[in-house]
Amino acid sequence: MSDSNPRLVLMGPPGAGKGTQSENIVEEYDVEHITTGDALRANKDIETEYGTPREYMEAGELVPDPVVNEIVVTALADADGFVLDGYPRNESQAEYLDSQTDLDLIALLEVGREELVHRLTGRRVDPETGENYHVEYNMPDDPEVRDRLVQRDDDTEETVQERLEVYEENTAPVIDFYEERGLVERVDGDRSPDEVWEDLDATIEVALDDG
Ligand code: ADP
Ligand code: ADP
Repeated sequence: MSDSNPRLVLMGPPGAGKGTQSENIVEEYDVEHITTGDALRANKDIETEYGTPREYMEAGELVPDPVVNEIVVTALADADGFVLDGYPRNESQAEYLDSQTDLDLIALLEVGREELVHRLTGRRVDPETGENYHVEYNMPDDPEVRDRLVQRDDDTEETVQERLEVYEENTAPVIDFYEERGLVERVDGDRSPDEVWEDLDATIEVALDDG
């Protein structure tokens, strides 16, 4: 382990399991979970000079960089170690992040497109706790929780396809940016959540020891 808490970025396309695995990282490494998606959903209707986040999110497009960078810089100020989930999503965000902090590891969760669509269109969220479930893979036992689950506005088939395009065009190039600096480790995300976690945890351990 390095002397300060780990500074990790979890990357991967929408539906790769970033939210799910971030929870494990938080528990194991005692770091802050910084997720721009959740922060934006909690502030969907704030007026910015670019309009509201909602307009972008419901179309599956990226919210403008200044809005998102502001969220991240505020969260970083309060965090010792962190796992960033859903940020950076384009090269300009990656450069901004670079100007604010060092990173120990970029872990990239890899999952094929068909499985991503299946995961996202089947995702359901508990509005009370924010916890993610899946209609086939992972439903809550408690009937009360089951009855209150909702589908995210952007988890419809059409918006999912748009989000995957946006990922390929804007976010995939960020991986090359970090790859050149030797920071990227790939993890096969197309396995059960527990198997993915076992591999991801081992990958983080190695990166921290090397650091
Ligand atoms: P992301 O944050 O990358 O968009 P989530 O963690 O929200 O991804 O996962 C997307 C959906 O897939 C959720 O419904 C979640 O329950 C489910 N899921 C996550 N990891 C796996 C996995 N390894 N196998 C099957 N389903 C998964
Ligand atoms: P997922 O990982 O399942 O795509 P998120 O919850 O991370 O979902 O993001 C949902 C939406 O929030 C995105 O489609 C985008 O509109 C917006 N968003 C989240 N993070 C960013 C970011 N770093 N830059 C721009 N927009 C973002």
